[in-house]
Amino acid sequence: MQKETNQFRLGPGVTTGNVFASRRRHNIKWQSAMAPLIFPVKYGAVVGRSLRRRFCAVSLLLALVEPTIGSAATASNRCSRIGSTKVVSGARFACVKRGKTLVWVVSSKSTVASSSTTIAPGSTTSTTVASVSDSLNFKNRMIYGIKNARLTRRADSGAYFENDSRKAEVFSAIRQKAYSELNPSSLTLSHPSVEFIYDIRPSFPSFLIEFTKRELSASAALWNDFFRTKIQVRVTLATEKDRDYIRGNSWLEMNLPGSLRRFDAKNERPFITGGAGYWDEDGQWRGNIYLATASYLDLTYVNYEWPQVARHEFFHVVQDYAMFRTQRARPSTESEYNRIQPLHFREGGANAVSYLTAFGNLGWSSDAMSWLVWQRASDNRRWIDVKSVDDIFQMMIGTEQRLPNEAFEMSYSIGAVMYEWILGTYGLDGFIKILNQLATAKSFDEALQKSVGLTQNEFYVKSAGYVFSVFQSTWPYR
Ligand SMILES: [Zn+2]
Repeated sequence: MQKETNQFRLGPGVTTGNVFASRRRHNIKWQSAMAPLIFPVKYGAVVGRSLRRRFCAVSLLLALVEPTIGSAATASNRCSRIGSTKVVSGARFACVKRGKTLVWVVSSKSTVASSSTTIAPGSTTSTTVASVSDSLNFKNRMIYGIKNARLTRRADSGAYFENDSRKAEVFSAIRQKAYSELNPSSLTLSHPSVEFIYDIRPSFPSFLIEFTKRELSASAALWNDFFRTKIQVRVTLATEKDRDYIRGNSWLEMNLPGSLRRFDAKNERPFITGGAGYWDEDGQWRGNIYLATASYLDLTYVNYEWPQVARHEFFHVVQDYAMFRTQRARPSTESEYNRIQPLHFREGGANAVSYLTAFGNLGWSSDAMSWLVWQRASDNRRWIDVKSVDDIFQMMIGTEQRLPNEAFEMSYSIGAVMYEWILGTYGLDGFIKILNQLATAKSFDEALQKSVGLTQNEFYVKSAGYVFSVFQSTWPYR
């Protein structure tokens, strides 16, 4: 039996409804050994060197410390106390010593330091343009609110914002393209091919209900045309107060108790957890989603991933539908399953979609992705400490499987960036072509070759530079 901590250590990590369903049917033991390294390390190393050279330029750009303000200390940019900070027109300034003089420089922590509208502190225009900054350092707290079923975000200044002031050009071309592919301006909330059947427990926080329904509707609208016939998706929204209710549902009973105990214990930020899949029950194939949280949830003290969990779970229905819509036999072992859908595709693919759609704009999506990468890379350094493109290769291979637990954790973040690269390179069409292979492909390698024309190895090689640059942009790890 899989250790529960594998599935439950982080909030949204509970997602393998189909795997559990299949385990229940076949009562099999999962192989727990990590897959052997199937790619020769020297291949990665050779490519790694050339990629490293290419990405030196990127790392210099990303360092972005204090270059935009002229170095000459004029009377207007002198400051009096070393270490003090201020925010002017969205840019954060820090007081540092230059030679014998204390001057204001753009702080490396500023998320808008590259904005073309940066105004030198002390200049006369700064007083007339003075406004509250919407910038947020993702290494600080990431607090979101809900207003009219839409997300708001609390900036470091303390004020809540409904949008982000950064221009698309400050983000990478891959990220811009991936974001626009998943957020077509023509998209409405209409989803005629998807019928939701809600079971909302009275204990579920009422302020989350309309938001959750809207998020699921938006997901269904995005994937509506992927479903070839109309499908029903059952959605259960529950909390730690619903233990008796859960006892009637073996799927929930198997997945939820670990999280509910954590909500009871109240010794960490509560979170939203979820699970989803598409399977046959009593002769009818349906999508199934559960979302569970603490009944006492407070949006100012919650795990930062919560806004995207509903979209992440909906995408698991899409993945499962893609694989089982023609009722292909369920793989009888987890490693057999992972050969068709490696964990970095299952969890990371779901995260690429959810992180790039749930946060409402490119800037917040980007900050949330940065936090996801930074937080998990920091927490799992004892497994692989990402310092080079070679480490990225090792992590791509390692996250094909669920074990060790660090591989499970990292599949969410490295996978998110890997499939962001697919979306940014081959568009949503290319991504859907991969999904369309899952019903028949014997392996993920075959699915990739028949969709985007890359072997799995070539995919790793081609995307690793981008993936590494995203990891590198979050340095230093904590
Ligand atoms: Zn998942």
